[in-house]
Amino acid sequence: MSRAGLAPPPGRCFWLEEALAHDPGEPCPPLRGRVEADVAIVGGGFAGMWTALELRAREPGLGVAVLEAGIVGGGASGRNGGFVSSSWHDLPAICGLFGRDEGLRYAMALAQEVTGIGRWCAEHGLDAWFHHEGVLGVRTGPWQEGFVGDEAIELLRALGLADRVRPLSGEECRRYADSPRFLGGAFVPDGATVQPARLARGLRRVALAQGVRIFEGTRVRGLERDGGRALLRTDGGTLRAERVVLAHGSWAAAWRPFRRSFAVIADHMVVTEPIPDRLAEIGWTSHVGIADGRDLLYYLRRTDDGRIAIGGGSASVLFDGRIGRRATADARVAEVSARGLLRLFPQLEGMRFTHAWGGPIDHTASFLPFFRTLPPGNVHAGLGFSGHGLVQTRVGGRILASLVLGAKDEWSSMPVVGRGIGAVPPEPLRYPLVRAAVWALASGDRREERGRPRGLIRRLVGGAPIAYRDRLARRGAVAR
Ligand SMILES: Cc1cc2nc3c(=O)[nH]c(=O)nc-3n(C[C@H](O)[C@H](O)[C@H](O)COP(=O)(O)OP(=O)(O)OC[C@H]3O[C@@H](n4cnc5c(N)ncnc54)[C@H](O)[C@@H]3O)c2cc1C
Repeated sequence: MSRAGLAPPPGRCFWLEEALAHDPGEPCPPLRGRVEADVAIVGGGFAGMWTALELRAREPGLGVAVLEAGIVGGGASGRNGGFVSSSWHDLPAICGLFGRDEGLRYAMALAQEVTGIGRWCAEHGLDAWFHHEGVLGVRTGPWQEGFVGDEAIELLRALGLADRVRPLSGEECRRYADSPRFLGGAFVPDGATVQPARLARGLRRVALAQGVRIFEGTRVRGLERDGGRALLRTDGGTLRAERVVLAHGSWAAAWRPFRRSFAVIADHMVVTEPIPDRLAEIGWTSHVGIADGRDLLYYLRRTDDGRIAIGGGSASVLFDGRIGRRATADARVAEVSARGLLRLFPQLEGMRFTHAWGGPIDHTASFLPFFRTLPPGNVHAGLGFSGHGLVQTRVGGRILASLVLGAKDEWSSMPVVGRGIGAVPPEPLRYPLVRAAVWALASGDRREERGRPRGLIRRLVGGAPIAYRDRLARRGAVAR
């Protein structure tokens, strides 16, 4: 790295700061004493909040309580890139794992929710900076396949869904934003951007209005059986519930049933000062989000107050899923994101970054979430959103509501319901293996950008997680 200090000291999340200044919301004090509910939801991220709302919509009389260790949206849900994206780019792998029909059914449900989230915001008068204008995947080097690979484009064509991804020339890509690095790519209309913390806080507001009880500052320390019910212990009291939903994201890594379910990494973002004139200069006047074709990709989008937010390019790895300061403030990784913006748009030299932050990601071996029911049958988990949770948690809320209500329907039969596919290695093996993979991917990207070959070692070590997923897909195909 040639110069230090492009990104500010990390820790302040722009999205949460902006959303709380816009609407702090009514207080939701911690749980005290003994409380009863029909359904207890652990975790006030998107997964927990969509589930709470879906349950109340289907059974308005149900007593639903959300227990949140910090504030609603304080986890990954209020800290992410805000890409509300379909999974068409990942369709070959999804169909490999679940079979063509079921894979397509799941991918179709995700794509529909891009519109669904926008509709929900409009219905509830929520200004969450939601813009359904699509996502542009670009190649920024001749060695890159791009965010949407040829295999996905061919499969979509074969399925009669060619219009879901439009291949573009370099010149066509540069019409969206004039980067000298854009060589070509693809436009995905089923994509939107949102201010994620405004969405999370909006879900909180609507849930409260619909009678959901929310206890913030309430960490669940233990879950016990109490006859046919469940007892959740917190520092201030207990909550007894008939049914429980575990939606506490990356933090579930510390809970025994999920110790091999996913690895926890942290992604980091930076945001510029407002630069509306410079955005106009580079011709980025729409709200189309952009992702490049590196192995550890950069994702960047505009904000409604004229900034650019960019994340990715590297990641921090957390030992044994322990989520400490490294998950939200890693100066080295934030600096990589900041440098990424200047690499893509050298014309922006001289602009300032105001915020840098990170958040934890629960990454499964299949790169897909899982929805599992634990014995004796009244505890349901929805975890492992693997860095693509904006749309998947919305579908996940419908799935979890069906599992809680015992409904046999299109949601409870989704192929992501079950034990989860594959397992991550146990600690202390996992940490060095995941670190090695992140190193291989990041340093391989850097080498190629300097015109050097990625090299066999980096290719093998960095490609190991994908190779494992391909093996799972082949095994899945045999098992079906
Ligand atoms: C930097 C970054 C960028 C990302 N970009 C995108 C993107 O552009 N598009 C996309 O689709 N996805 C993106 N993601 C992923 C996305 O944010 C997540 O998949 C999604 O928010 C997961 O939601 P969740 O509800 O499962 O988890 P979380 O939002 O993490 O919620 C879990 C909640 O549980 C609470 N909790 C934990 N333990 C306990 C306990 N014991 N008791 C009570 N509460 C507890 C936590 O405080 C937290 O609020 C990104 C993630 C990061 C970090």
